[in-house]
Amino acid sequence: MLARVRSAAVLGIDAYLVDVETDIANGLPTFATVGLPQGAVKEGRERVFAALANTGYTFPLKRITVNLAPADIRKDGSAFDLPIAVGILAATEQIAGERLARVAVLGELGLEGAIRPVRGALPVALAARAAGLEALVLPRENLPEVADFLDGRGELPEAQVDLAGLFAERAKDDVDFAEVRGQAHAKRALEVAAAGGHNILMIGPPGSGKTMLARRLPTILPRMSLDEALETTKIHSVTGVLPLGESLVARRPFRAPHHTISDAGLIGGGSYPRPGEVSLAHGGVLFLDELPEFRKNVLEVLRQPMEDGVVTIARAAMSLSYPARFMLAAAMNPCPCGYFGDPHHNCVCGPLGVERYLARVSGPLLDRIDIHLEVPAVKYRALADQSGTEPSEAVRERVDRARVVQRERFGHRPGVYANAHMAARDIRTFCRVSDGADALLRTAITRLALSARAYHRILKIARTIADLEGAADLQPKHVSEAIQYRSLDRRGLG
Ligand SMILES: [Zn+2]
Repeated sequence: MLARVRSAAVLGIDAYLVDVETDIANGLPTFATVGLPQGAVKEGRERVFAALANTGYTFPLKRITVNLAPADIRKDGSAFDLPIAVGILAATEQIAGERLARVAVLGELGLEGAIRPVRGALPVALAARAAGLEALVLPRENLPEVADFLDGRGELPEAQVDLAGLFAERAKDDVDFAEVRGQAHAKRALEVAAAGGHNILMIGPPGSGKTMLARRLPTILPRMSLDEALETTKIHSVTGVLPLGESLVARRPFRAPHHTISDAGLIGGGSYPRPGEVSLAHGGVLFLDELPEFRKNVLEVLRQPMEDGVVTIARAAMSLSYPARFMLAAAMNPCPCGYFGDPHHNCVCGPLGVERYLARVSGPLLDRIDIHLEVPAVKYRALADQSGTEPSEAVRERVDRARVVQRERFGHRPGVYANAHMAARDIRTFCRVSDGADALLRTAITRLALSARAYHRILKIARTIADLEGAADLQPKHVSEAIQYRSLDRRGLG
């Protein structure tokens, strides 16, 4: 007799339905799994055997064939244990399986019949819903409980999700801009970066608050939409980094990998490629502290995701793509000792040491960073200053307004939704400068010996500053503020 159990497998961040077909025939006792099962799926036979025996069911001593359809995609992981066990119960008529056709089943079995959690439950639930199934049966208790449910003899507790409530609750930030005292100039630069989607590099001595500032960048970015939250949650779900009980990532993620990270850790990898930090930061901020300490080849692999918003990992077994659209925030000391340019400390690095240190981050990565910001050490008086502690929510409102202007502007430009993504032709169209601003730009180009690239960056940033103000044309004050955010150009490095 043949039984069919609906299940699913995750490929990348999406799931596809898998039909687990179990055929039981007379003959020598064998147990074969076909349909490209990988190691963990094959081992499942032992777990299924033990789980059935230990929960009082009969394991048939016959010829058992399990087919995982579609047969041409590799299946990995232990989540097929439960559907295979259920298939055997249905094929041997130990359960009637009333509800089998209308639900998807997923779970790893313990030898004693307990069901263990699996990764990627969210993508599977979405795929099951798309296929018109009524429910997804997920690990909670044990095999007999599931069997009773499928037989129509018992009910399982339904996972009730108040999505709107959950979303609102999870969306609350745990840090706030108001906690950063002083640093008005740096906060303003972060606001500009958030408003235009500009990547940012902060340069300052140890203890100047660069990490504290970066950590709060997600709190002034526009709130995530539900679709964005689901997409980021899927990535965290298949990576297995969702903390227990945390079912939805509704806050923009902040990922801060250590500078010793490998390229696989950063962009993803493994024989079955898993998402890396760039994908875990999808929709949020990737923070690279001590930027010059990262290995060169690691920084180089950042280029592709930064350009495409997606990362493709090719392995012999398969090639997978993961979303990876993030804002890059990086930080570095001004020199190896950290005190170059500090009026209260002596720098011991020497001009050559400083230059060599800065040169480590120049090049292709620097080309993708619009804003360079000097973050000086904060004086005691500024720390004690209670003014200028505007909450994140107030900043976010201004950022939101500037983003609305940009969405309208780029409505007909696929792939461009913030000023940071403008190509040269967009800059010509959308960055009209007033006469006064034009004169200022000419002077700056000559005096600072700016490259054409730096000139374009200044126009993009000035566009964002004007958008924050609701101004149509770029005025001198917008351009002069933008020039301030190109400090490495002023040092001849841009
Ligand atoms: Zn130094």
